[in-house]
This record gives sequence, C-alpha cells and structure tokens, in this order.
Amino acid sequence: MLYISSDKKVRIDELIERNGILIVKGEVASSSRKGLFHNTSVIYSFKRKYVIEGSCDCEISRYYGICKHQIRLLYVAFRARKKINKENKNSKIINNSS
Ligand SMILES: [Zn+2]
Repeated sequence: MLYISSDKKVRIDELIERNGILIVKGEVASSSRKGLFHNTSVIYSFKRKYVIEGSCDCEISRYYGICKHQIRLLYVAFRARKKINKENKNSKIINNSS
C-alpha cells in the first residue's frame, strides 16, 4: 500500500504519472456494507481534465460506469500524489546509493 486516507476509507495501491496521465489503483470503503472495500481504478488526463477510464466492482459502476468510489479515489489521489511521488523519489535515491 502506498497511501491511506486519514479517515482510512481510501487506500492507494498504485499511482503512476506519465505524460500528463494519472493512473491510480486502490480500494475504497463501501458506505452500505461495513468492512467491505471495493477494488477501484481510475485513469485521468490532466491535459483534458477528464476521466479517460475507470472501473469499480460495486453495483452502481456495473450499471452506470462511474461511481462515487472512483470519484473518491481520484480525489484522494490528487491530494496525496505529491507526497507519494516524493516518497517514491526518496526510496529510489536510497536504492541507488546502496
Ligand atoms: Zn464503485
């Protein structure tokens, strides 16, 4: 796990930024079923300010494509991405010097 939100309802497992595209994968807590987490992923374009692709294993996503879990994951990713990228860079530096 890369990051967990302060309310512990969103976990980010993978965050990749490349050519203005953000790819984020993680788990988001279900609001109706306690203890259940949905596997959620979102691909977002910074250039177009647009969600290119998203997926989630909840029922709403099955019928409508988009759901609140994808929105929540993206929102947490926006706030956490600088911190996550910084930590990734730091770990790379440590790996290189060792
Ligand atoms: Zn969902």
